[in-house]
Amino acid sequence: MTDTAHDSTTIVVVEDDPNIADLLNLYLREAGYRVYLCPDGESGLAAVRDRSPRLVILDVGLPGAIDGLEVCRRLRAADTEVAVLMLTARDAEIDRVLGLEMGADDYVTKPFSPREIVARVKAILRRTGGPPPSAGPATIVIGGIDVDLGRREARVDGHPVALATREFDLLAHLANNQGLALTRRQLLDSVWGDGWIGDDRTVDVHVRQLRKKLGDGLPLDTVWGIGYRLG
Ligand code: CA
Repeated sequence: MTDTAHDSTTIVVVEDDPNIADLLNLYLREAGYRVYLCPDGESGLAAVRDRSPRLVILDVGLPGAIDGLEVCRRLRAADTEVAVLMLTARDAEIDRVLGLEMGADDYVTKPFSPREIVARVKAILRRTGGPPPSAGPATIVIGGIDVDLGRREARVDGHPVALATREFDLLAHLANNQGLALTRRQLLDSVWGDGWIGDDRTVDVHVRQLRKKLGDGLPLDTVWGIGYRLG
């Protein structure tokens, strides 16, 4: 579980509502994490740069020039490996879809219980900090794509492509099940975990991102009425 690139216990919380920030601070500290609170996007980006957190909890609605979606976009553009958990307003479907497209690993809809947040945080850290799947080769080659499970890296014609954590997890799972048509529900359960309450659209959004980023060399088929098949 050791990741030398990051302090395994540091979390940056970017949230302008002081009540919510305090509550998250309290529960996350109680769970053993080191927490830095930031009230806006600028200070959040600075904290990620300075503190090298494993995870950022990011409110979408932030004051100032940079909202949560933009913070997420910049984190991914900077190619950071930090995990991102988005906080979105209830019924703001567009925020959730955009957040996932921007590379967020997960989202929680307000209002939420702090315990739910802690559970999500643990799940994300477990997933992103854990060892690669032990079965099979360290690198799976599919079409023109290398899926390097050890380095958690996808390469197109030898060139690394930046993928969000969950995008890589999805690609790795499909690669480990080459040739099999997997339903969206199976993919949700395997890649997002049993506790995930999102819908099929989450899978579609990530598949769209994989296709966009990896291009024509990715032999990922839509199997009508079922889901997706790789290779
Ligand atoms: Ca807010």
